[in-house]
Amino acid sequence: MHKDIADILVSEQDIATICKDLGAQITNDYAGTRPVLVGLLKGCVPFMSDLAKHIDLYVDIDYMSVSSYHGGISSSGDVKIKKDLDMPISGRDILIVEDIVDTANTIVTIMKLFEHRGAKSVKICTLLDKPGGRQHHFIPDYIGKTIPKAFVVGYGLDYDELYRNLPYVGILKPEIYRTS
Ligand code: 5GP
Repeated sequence: MHKDIADILVSEQDIATICKDLGAQITNDYAGTRPVLVGLLKGCVPFMSDLAKHIDLYVDIDYMSVSSYHGGISSSGDVKIKKDLDMPISGRDILIVEDIVDTANTIVTIMKLFEHRGAKSVKICTLLDKPGGRQHHFIPDYIGKTIPKAFVVGYGLDYDELYRNLPYVGILKPEIYRTS
């Protein structure tokens, strides 16, 4: 698997530092509240797991599954809810935990939905931000690392359901998606 990676963009050490720093900021900003951390499956799983350990607060954790990509490498712009939240969120402070914000189609749609459901506040924490891909004006509240407009895999991010278990974030060799 590692041989398919051309370049490592965010190393395991970078990720550990990011989770520690963001966890401390979130602990501070949400002090005295009980926020709901909402992870967007499946890409959020490693990040949610590592980040949540650094948040020293009582939190609820819930997951949603939405899709905008259908096995390819560019966003279709069409956001579909495949699994909804288990808990009601009316009156709650919501922190959405994302692997990456690219066009922002997904996050803008989910934020509107949560506001419509009566959330008290909705903020976004993303491991990676790719502002070069934006189709909406949108700035995440918490950003682990800003990256250039490239297709990345690893640490939750897939190409055709593979590479989610890489411990770092990297760029695939172009021949991998030409041949699969
Ligand atoms: P957006 O709606 O902001 O365009 O994209 C959100 C979702 O698209 C992310 O949660 C992720 O699943 C997928 N995505 C966006 N950019 C990348 C990327 O570079 N690599 C991978 N593997 N998925 C991406």
